[in-house]
Amino acid sequence: VLLMRHRMKSSGRWAKAEAILRELDEKCGTSTGKLRQVADAMTVEMHAGLASEGGSKLKMLISYVDKLPSGDEEGVFYALDLGGTNFRVLRVLLGGKEKRVIKKESEELSIPPHLMVGSSHDLFDFIAAALAKFVATESEDFVLPPGRQRELGFTFSFPVRQISLASGTIIKWTKGFLIEDAIGQDVVGELTKAMERVGLDMHVAALVNDTVGTLAGGRYNNPDVIAAVILGTGTNAAYAERANAIPKGQGPLPKSGEMVINMEWGNFRSSHLPLTEYDQSLDAESLNPGEQIFEKTISGMYLGEIVRRVLCRMAEEASFFGDDIPPKLRIPFILRTPDMAAMHHDTSADLKVVGSKLKDILEIPNSPLKMRKMIVEICDVVAIRGARLSAAGILGILKKLGRDALKDGEKQRSVIALDGGLFEHYSEFRNCLKNTMKELLGEEVSESVVVELSNDGSGIGAALIAASHSQNHEIEES
Ligand code: BGC
Ligand code: MG
Repeated sequence: VLLMRHRMKSSGRWAKAEAILRELDEKCGTSTGKLRQVADAMTVEMHAGLASEGGSKLKMLISYVDKLPSGDEEGVFYALDLGGTNFRVLRVLLGGKEKRVIKKESEELSIPPHLMVGSSHDLFDFIAAALAKFVATESEDFVLPPGRQRELGFTFSFPVRQISLASGTIIKWTKGFLIEDAIGQDVVGELTKAMERVGLDMHVAALVNDTVGTLAGGRYNNPDVIAAVILGTGTNAAYAERANAIPKGQGPLPKSGEMVINMEWGNFRSSHLPLTEYDQSLDAESLNPGEQIFEKTISGMYLGEIVRRVLCRMAEEASFFGDDIPPKLRIPFILRTPDMAAMHHDTSADLKVVGSKLKDILEIPNSPLKMRKMIVEICDVVAIRGARLSAAGILGILKKLGRDALKDGEKQRSVIALDGGLFEHYSEFRNCLKNTMKELLGEEVSESVVVELSNDGSGIGAALIAASHSQNHEIEES
């Protein structure tokens, strides 16, 4: 009798959990039709954001990058890349068309979590100190001629309202950052002051978003690169727009030529987005409620957390993990997206990676195969939704540029440079994104649209932009 009761109880538990899973799957639905609506909404918002300041949730920020690297760039340049979980410093020796990148050195540090939510002064002091330390290791190859100041491209992966290529104020923080006293401050001014405090003599020649850096790095290697997308801790896109298609920039901008636009697509929002109760509670409890809704359904900071929230509900309502709710499961962000990816990618018959993740992270020692399988399904639903929505976003950009169809029967090659850990390391996500592009564009057009990893584009891209807009460069030219 006991055994029977146990069996009945556990079959009830699976049935309830399965119902929750089915509901999740349904709410996360991204049919082709739905994705087309999302893409169309993206295109509409792009127009609105370009038309006037505040015209859309999409900020469509003017980057002041009006020329992308050509390959002719020469000299020594530094870059600093601050954005998600890591922080990188880098220097390159550029040798022009023939020699390209002659030498490159870089270092990566993680940002102490308390600095992400502390004061502006402390964060920039930390950055300047790390940069000074890196500069001190400069070898002869990188030494500038006497009297020349070192130049730096600063990649800052948050929304910034720029007033020139080398200045701009922080609009808001995203991802895990929240440093109130920095909002409205000039990022370059803050960095420059901190560099002065550590006695580092360096000129910030360009301030760029990581998407803009990736676009520049991508274009340097491939002239067909038209846009860049980051799928990492956060998500965003930038692309080269015709200057005369930017009504809000009429004053300060030249009317001919190109201008790179930082879309800040993470803040995109539309009634067509498939959102769930888990997204709602995640948003409400986040550092930035109501903001970055697209980002919260797509990017690496959040996917694992969505899965955790689904598991919490299953634990509570279906006793999925038995009578007690595993205490660790209650800790926000304990399930990181790389762990989710590892579970999702588990191909062993007994799903032993899933088993060991449950044990190590959530302290669930014994997990039946059935439980493991359902967890993989949850990961699948959540990752697929994110990947398919990312593809819809890219389609929105292609539409804005008239590159989603053949032009006069001709194929125009469009390359999208992609960077970020989610795209690089989560292969289910990456493959799904690529397949969805095909599904949306159709066989023929999709042959000329390439989504390509542009690894470390953002760091080197900032150095390249600093180089192509450098004052020293101009002096040499004239
Ligand atoms: C930021 C963007 C950034 C993206 C990727 C978002 O949270 O708002 O500026 O490009 O993350 O790093
Ligand atoms: Mg980055």
